[in-house]
Formats: sequence, C-alpha cells, structure tokens
Amino acid sequence: SIIASDNRRVIVGLGSTGLSVARHLARNGHTFSVADSRTQPPNVDAFRREFPDADLALGPFAEDQFVGASELIVNPGIPLSTPALIAAKEAGAILTGDIDYFHRAAKAPVVAITGSNGKSTVTTLLGEMAKAAAVQVAVGGNLGTPALDLLGDGVELYVLELSSFQLERCANLGAEVATVLNISADHLDHHGDMVAYHQAKHRIFQGCKKAVINRDEPLSNPLVPEEVEKWYFRQGGSDFRCFGLEEHDGEIWIALAREPLMPVRQLKIAGGHNTANALAALALGAAAGLELAPMLSVLQSFTGLSHRCEFVADRGGVSYYNDSKGTNVGAAVAAIKGLADKGRVVLIAGGQAKGASFEPLADCLVATGRGAVLIGEAAADIETAIAGRLPVSLQSSMAAAVAAAADMAEAGDVVLLSPACASFDMFEGYSDRGNQFCQAVENLAVENRGGA
Ligand code: ADP
Repeated sequence: SIIASDNRRVIVGLGSTGLSVARHLARNGHTFSVADSRTQPPNVDAFRREFPDADLALGPFAEDQFVGASELIVNPGIPLSTPALIAAKEAGAILTGDIDYFHRAAKAPVVAITGSNGKSTVTTLLGEMAKAAAVQVAVGGNLGTPALDLLGDGVELYVLELSSFQLERCANLGAEVATVLNISADHLDHHGDMVAYHQAKHRIFQGCKKAVINRDEPLSNPLVPEEVEKWYFRQGGSDFRCFGLEEHDGEIWIALAREPLMPVRQLKIAGGHNTANALAALALGAAAGLELAPMLSVLQSFTGLSHRCEFVADRGGVSYYNDSKGTNVGAAVAAIKGLADKGRVVLIAGGQAKGASFEPLADCLVATGRGAVLIGEAAADIETAIAGRLPVSLQSSMAAAVAAAADMAEAGDVVLLSPACASFDMFEGYSDRGNQFCQAVENLAVENRGGA
C-alpha cells in the first residue's frame, strides 16, 4: 500500500463513516491515521485488510493524544466536547467531518434533509421520486450508505439525510436544496439546549441555492439571503410554491397553488405526520426540478419504512403497530396522534431518555389513549408525567410488555410501540427493539391458540 501513516490528519472513530473517510482519503492520495476510543470498534477487520500499513490507535483517548494534529475528521457519534478533541483544537487543529469532504468532492447537486423527525421517510421518498423521474440518484448520509461512499461519476442527484451531529461539524454544505423538516426537543443530552440544537440543524442552509420551509413550524424558517429560492409545505391551504391541502370533490387533496393533485386517501403511509412527510418530499422534489407525475405515482405506492408506524398484526380485534424508530417525544406524540383515528392507543414506551420533558407525551396519551406500558430506564419518569391519569404497567422485557399491553387493550384498540427514548439500555438498537416487539406479538397468537 502507498498509504503511510500521517499523524497530522486523524480520522477519529472507525464506524462506517470513518471507514468511508479512510477510503475517500486513500482514493485521493492523502495519508492519515485512525483512532477509536473502543478497543474493538466495528469495521476494524475490514480496515486492517484494506489499509494494512495505516496507523490505528485503539482504546481510551489520552487527553493530549491529538495535540499536534492539523486536522481531525470526527465521527458524528463522538461529542466535540471530548477533552482530547478540545485539547487538539486549542493546539490549532481543525475539527471537521465527512460532510465537508463530501461537499468538496460532489459534482452533482445535493438535496440535504435534516429535522427532528421524518428524515429517513422523506429522504427515502425523495430518492424513490427521483428514480421514478429517471434521474440517476444516490441516497444516503445519516441513513444507509455514508455520504462519501455515494460519490460516483454517473450520479445526477444526491439526496442526503443529515443529523445534527454531522451538521455541527460541517463548515459549508452548499446544497442545491436544503430543509429542516421540523424541530422538537431531541438529543438535548448531547447539544445541551434547544438553541444549540437549532443552530446545529440550521447549518444545513449554509450556501444553499434553494430552501424548503415547513410553514407549520416557525423554527424551520431559515435566515437566508433574498435570492435563495423558497419552496414551502404545510397541512393547510396551498399557495404559490407551497404544497398544501385543499378540499376537492368532497375530500381532502394534496395541492399546489390551489391545484388539486391527488387525494390524501391515496397515500399508503398513515397519519398526519406522514401527510406532512409527503408534502415535504414533493416540495423538495419540485425545488430540485423533478416532474410532478412521477412524484405523485411514488406517493401512491410507497408503503413506508419498517419500524415507523408499521402495521404488524391484528390479534383478537386489537391492531399492533411498531414505531420503534419513534425515539424522541415529538415522534411518539406524532405517532399517537397519527393512529388516534384507528382506535384508542395502549402505548408501550420507555428506554434511555434524551433530556426532553415527557409532559407532552403524557398529555397527548391521556387525551385519547387507553393506558401505558413502560419499560427501561425512563419508565418511572414517564409514569410521573402520566400522574395517575391513565392505567400504567411497568415491565422489564418486551415480551412482558406486549403481554401487559394485550391485557390492557380492548377490541378495537391499537397497541403502539413508540418509545420516545433510545433503546440501548435493553436492546442493540431500534431495529432489535422493533423486531422483539414483532416477535412478541407473533408469540401472543401462539399462546392464544394454545389457550383456546
Ligand atoms: P428520522 O430519520 O428523523 O428519525 P423517520 O422517518 O425514521 O425519521 O421517522 C422516525 C419516527 O418519527 C417515526 O417512527 C414517527 O414516529 C416519527 N415521525 C415521522 N415523521 C414525522 C413528522 N413529520 N413529524 C413528527 N414525527 C414524525
């Protein structure tokens, strides 16, 4: 290998993003070293195979470990407040991330999507829309393939989901189209407060040509120059460059500039929050120059991603929905509201809290729900927020939680897993949590058959 170690440029964190950075630097003839605070990070075997000569430092960071480095390319999972990073910065190092490298290398326009909730749904929808419009599109970022692994000569459009962590370490994005879909309290454990979180998200607009704005969400409104073209969406009347909802033929239609385009009923993804996601994808696609017809046909066939308000099964007249990706309070509130017209909700929630208040969740559930089954570290805090206003059951495994929810539910009800929390106290991640939920629902049927 021609890759020699260079302690001046350090990739910090060897996740899939770190590996994508290493490959990108190598492709461009740059040298680098890599450090990870874990002794057994993921991808270490792949890394050693691909870069046998590169310097790899594993184990807890010494505080002066990066002093003297010129540039640290920091994985989004590592807080910039890590003492070793602060020390390096004070000694003159630049802290950056994969997205700055992506920006410098990408030759096709980029649609950049962030927000507290709905990012993956909107990113995937827009990718499908571009494909349907016969555009060579590459979709990834915080979702699926890391941004630098998407780079390719044939690509005509990049659609990137970006997290607040990626954005806070990105100097300039220069997106063709950028949006903050919505902002609710999330990751306050990391960003400290809402102002810092808001500032990180709004970095997505730096250097953008067009902005998509959620008219229902004042916090999504960017401070950008006049000449930035603005497109809008809202769950109210439509307007010039504003996708919205209009009554037509006795029902509600998705519309642009008062022109009805398709009935909301034809959307395969359920709930008001998903109507907002559909409108957002249309606005992003229109801003990126996609035709309406292929975008609308995708909306009529897209059934949603797994673990997002996903219908699992009907058991004894009760329907079970897996919204394991509902990892913050805003997401769980949207899921409860979105499913409220299907029946009274028995909510399974809890896990690792992220610093937001559980009051809005409790109030929303009390207004329309049947009860709550609580798991994980946050169970007691959620119970406190519910304050005796609804039946609550505390459980210590997913199987027990599903059984308790089945007991609590009456025919016609909805059992919804939308935890409002991270999963790592009890599960490997949100997919593991959702899969265990589905398995437990599956087992319910077996037990019921056994008992009958
Ligand atoms: P993200 O990538 O931002 O986590 P997803 O599309 O994966 O978003 O959806 C995650 C969860 O957020 C969903 O399961 C749902 O509970 C909630 N959600 C989705 N879209 C919205 C929205 N527009 N507003 C509020 N909550 C939403």
